[in-house]
Amino acid sequence: MLEAREITVRYGRQVALDRVSFVVEPGGVTGLGGPSGCGKSTLARVLSLMLRPAAGSVTVDGRPVRRWRQRAARELRTRIALIYQQPRLAVDPRLTVAEIIAEPLAAAGRPGGDRTGELAAEVGLTRDLLTRRPHEVSDGQLQRACVARALSLEPGYLICDEMTTMLDASTQAHLVAVVNAYRDRTGAGVLAITHDDALMGRWADRVIKFDQLIR
Ligand code: ADP
Repeated sequence: MLEAREITVRYGRQVALDRVSFVVEPGGVTGLGGPSGCGKSTLARVLSLMLRPAAGSVTVDGRPVRRWRQRAARELRTRIALIYQQPRLAVDPRLTVAEIIAEPLAAAGRPGGDRTGELAAEVGLTRDLLTRRPHEVSDGQLQRACVARALSLEPGYLICDEMTTMLDASTQAHLVAVVNAYRDRTGAGVLAITHDDALMGRWADRVIKFDQLIR
């Protein structure tokens, strides 16, 4: 279980999260909805250990998080992967698609090689795209690479923050199917953040509206 308890986040004087608690269960798809600006992405960043809250605690399978971002314990950090809405903001534009997919493997000291090709196939990227750079592929292709990168270290929790909002319907359907297949295979827990109610209805087996979290 990935659990956030009584999380408070402030941006300057603005309180973005006020003692919010939230749980992502393994094996299921937890949906989180709510209007733009209510704090969903902020919660996603705390749950993926990318943002240190002003107060509150996060535990990963019962283990408390004591350090955040790059300083977080490696085995906790790699248990959770975050997929953002805008792939262009989530990649280094100098890298090739293959290098983007293999980044976590390289950081873990594992050679990408065959595994990169397998991951690319899993998300529907053809081999000819692997040598291209971000400006030479579409948003949908780049988001496929970001999903492959997120799955590369087999995380126990996958946080999809408006993962398909920018994409066409067929890419959306395919990437949701990829995440679902991954969950079926590994028993990972998925957090699906979307303001698209139709998608939420199809995807999540438990839906939480952000206003339910506010006390
Ligand atoms: P959502 O994902 O639900 O749209 P966010 O978590 O992105 O909401 O934002 C919650 C609130 O915090 C918004 O008012 C937003 O403008 C503000 N906010 C988000 N990120 C920052 C930041 N880095 N600096 C200042 N304010 C921010």
